[in-house]
Amino acid sequence: MMRWIRTFLPRSHGSIRWKLTIWISLLLITLFIVYNIVQYFVINKWLIDQEQKSMEKSMNEMEIYLQEKDVSAAEIADYRSFMTKFNQENQMIRILDQEGTVLLKVTDRLPEQWVEPQAVQKRVLINAWHYEDHLLIMRSPLITTNFSGTIEMVTNLENTDKLSDMLLLVMFCGGIAAVGLSILGASVLSRQFVKPITTMNATMIQIQQKGLHKRVDVPDQHDELTNLARMFNRLMDELELSFQQQKQFVEDASHELRTPVAIIEGHINLLKRWGKHDPDILNESLDVSAQELTRLKTIVNELLLLSQAESGHIAMEAAVDLRQTVQHALANVVQLHPDAAFDIHMEFISGIEVKILPQHMEQILRILVDNAVKYSPVTKEIRVQGIRRDNDVCIQVTDKGMGIPAEDLPYVFDRFYRVDKARIREQGGTGLGLAIAERLVKRYNGLIFIDSRVDEGTTVTVLLPTSAS
Ligand code: ADP
Repeated sequence: MMRWIRTFLPRSHGSIRWKLTIWISLLLITLFIVYNIVQYFVINKWLIDQEQKSMEKSMNEMEIYLQEKDVSAAEIADYRSFMTKFNQENQMIRILDQEGTVLLKVTDRLPEQWVEPQAVQKRVLINAWHYEDHLLIMRSPLITTNFSGTIEMVTNLENTDKLSDMLLLVMFCGGIAAVGLSILGASVLSRQFVKPITTMNATMIQIQQKGLHKRVDVPDQHDELTNLARMFNRLMDELELSFQQQKQFVEDASHELRTPVAIIEGHINLLKRWGKHDPDILNESLDVSAQELTRLKTIVNELLLLSQAESGHIAMEAAVDLRQTVQHALANVVQLHPDAAFDIHMEFISGIEVKILPQHMEQILRILVDNAVKYSPVTKEIRVQGIRRDNDVCIQVTDKGMGIPAEDLPYVFDRFYRVDKARIREQGGTGLGLAIAERLVKRYNGLIFIDSRVDEGTTVTVLLPTSAS
């Protein structure tokens, strides 16, 4: 059946709307046809049953009456008027003797020759046809003291059949109207049903042609399709945001890379023109170029670290002892800052286990300690401590340095953000450290936040969930 419908449909009609229309129409039409057929047969049967019951009732009354009168064969003819009362429209009643000879006959528009007389020993009911006419024949034995014969009652079901035919016609006309309405209804229904999909499709085409800012208009309803449209819009928002961030990042990165390249280029030009024979210019230009190359290398390395921190899934099976991991990492980091005084307190986090890769812990600590030292021009006293908080654990790095102005605090985790660009550039800051640290901490479902006061100092807190939580 399905294959037949598919071959019947032209290819262009393979859309969901068409399929829905056809399937809904077919379903409604089938339901309607089945319902009508069942209804037709039930009504028809009921009408015939009614006719049969009425014949039975008349037959019983006639029998009882004639038995009470104890009729004989000779008297039968005297009961014509009595029989006429029982005989209704399109009916015939005959009384037969044992051989089947008609002794009495009353009929109303039913020709006698349509039914052969026939004597019976017990009551029978027969459905018979005379060409187009449907006949119901009931024969019942009539036994009195002096007579033994058969009462035969025949009904032409012409009226019942007419009613059935009328019913059939009404059903047929109703059927045609219902088929039309089904197709129309199915078409409207399926159009309504696929409307969000069509709108979404049109929006996607516009997005493809005009850019990411277009969105699907979602009606104020809540069903699977509107939810899908909402989800699509949300995805587009995220995509647009990430696209813009990516664009901004590329712009920022190229700007950052352009500065050292321009400085190196300037010094090479200087050398080309005058520096070859002037040892002062030569030395200075080589120093600056080497410095800028180191800076370029740092930026490139940090960009790589940032992209690594952002990407990939970390499969963490085993938890590590946080105290040991932090102490081991700090031992490496502290070595790099012989000019700073460190005050390390890890006793509160003894025995706490956290799921983190040790090299990531070291990377985070290195960034925070580097900053603490770098931005403490005078008093280089750095305190690192571990604190336990319910199911979380905090590592705090506190310095007594220059601090961060309140208006800059919300942006220090942005890529390439530096509080005082020119001065910090001199100190070697790229503005990527905290961005890397934040992404790493977030990958472990942790949080990082900063508390800082200008000229008093800064505390950076890294909060990580313990492996028990
Ligand atoms: P950078 O490589 O410039 O240090 P970061 O992302 O690590 O980049 O830090 C962003 C900016 O936040 C820094 O340029 C600096 O201005 C400020 N900052 C970070 N840590 C501290 C700190 N401990 N004290 C003062 N300022 C800080």
